[in-house]
Parts: sequence; C-alpha cells; structure tokens
Amino acid sequence: MGIDLYKFENLSSWLDEKGFPDIKQEKQDLIVRDVTKEAVEKGHIEFLEDGIYWVENRRRIKGFVYISHAYVYFKGRGPKFPKFHITRCETIDEFLNDNRFDLRYKFSNKESVDIIDRTYKREYSGMKLTLCMNCQKIAGYGNIDTSNFIRRFA
Ligand SMILES: [Zn+2]
Repeated sequence: MGIDLYKFENLSSWLDEKGFPDIKQEKQDLIVRDVTKEAVEKGHIEFLEDGIYWVENRRRIKGFVYISHAYVYFKGRGPKFPKFHITRCETIDEFLNDNRFDLRYKFSNKESVDIIDRTYKREYSGMKLTLCMNCQKIAGYGNIDTSNFIRRFA
C-alpha cells in the first residue's frame, strides 16, 4: 500500500486548524550554506517545480536563497534589505547564467538570517527578509517573509 501524500497535506492543515504544533519544525536541521560555483557544480542546489532545495548527505532540504553581503545602505539611501528567492526566477536565472558567484548568495532554511551591509560593514542578525517580486508572481504566495515561508511552505 502506498502512502497518499495528498491525505498527509489534509491531515497537516487539519492539525493546524486544531492548534496542534507543527511537527515540520523538528524534522530538519537549520542550515546556512554558500551558493558557490563548486556547490552548484556538485549538485548541492536543486531548483525543482515546488522550490529550491539543498542536497547533502543524501538529504534534500527545502529553503530559499538570498544575498548575505548586501548594500543595505547605498548612496545615502537605506536601510534596504535583500529579498529572498524560492524559485529560479529571472534574478536567480541571471545570477546562475552569468556566473555571478561574487554576489555571494547563500541558501538557508532558517526563519531569519544574518545580513552584512557592505557599505558600513555592519551586521544585522536575525533578519526576516521579504519575498522577491518575481518569485511572488511565480509561487503565488504574496508578500511573505522568510519566517512565514519556512513555517508554512518549507
Ligand atoms: Zn526571485
């Protein structure tokens, strides 16, 4: 007898409605990984129909990508924090096709992440980023943050 994943989804939302704690929270390690050229070539990152995954030790972890070293302040403007991505949207496609690994993308499945401002060399820890506009259109999730995304969809 096979396991019906659709029924699992229903069970999960029924449990949510009844206020049971989400068991998804405990099942994955929380990771932050550099999206380097080597990591991509070795197949550590996968862009699948339903999202972006990090693969290591034969496990597939769902999460998002973002730029960790960003111009939070730029030419007197800011603060403006980087967006996070959950699909191979235009921005991510460009980054990969143009080999822009100098942009220092990271992968994570944490609800909040640390961002370094390249202008003032200051670190902002525990930031909840908001979803990229391109990814919003593709995924249809609206303007959610990393915390909403991880708790609801990862
Ligand atoms: Zn995006």
